[in-house]
Amino acid sequence: PYVITEPCIGSKDASCYDVCPVDAIQPTPDGPDDNHDQLFIDPVACIDCGACQAVCPVEAIYGDDEVPEQWRSWIAVNKDFFQPA
Ligand code: SF4
Repeated sequence: PYVITEPCIGSKDASCYDVCPVDAIQPTPDGPDDNHDQLFIDPVACIDCGACQAVCPVEAIYGDDEVPEQWRSWIAVNKDFFQPA
């Protein structure tokens, strides 16, 4: 699946939300106390089409096999948003 990483925080542009064909992308609720105020991708629902990556204005979206090293932890953060431990 694709993963939304750190650059989304503070952008939350939502272009990706509009293009996802399977509604796999969800924003966090708005709120100043949220550590990760961004959008996330449901790894179960994502069909790897890449449409979201193409429209992201801040290059926050990567395939899970190409996430830059410093943002690898976001793979679990995306998953945990949909499947809390
Ligand atoms: Fe949705 Fe495609 Fe992005 Fe997966 S890769 S989240 S299916 S737009």
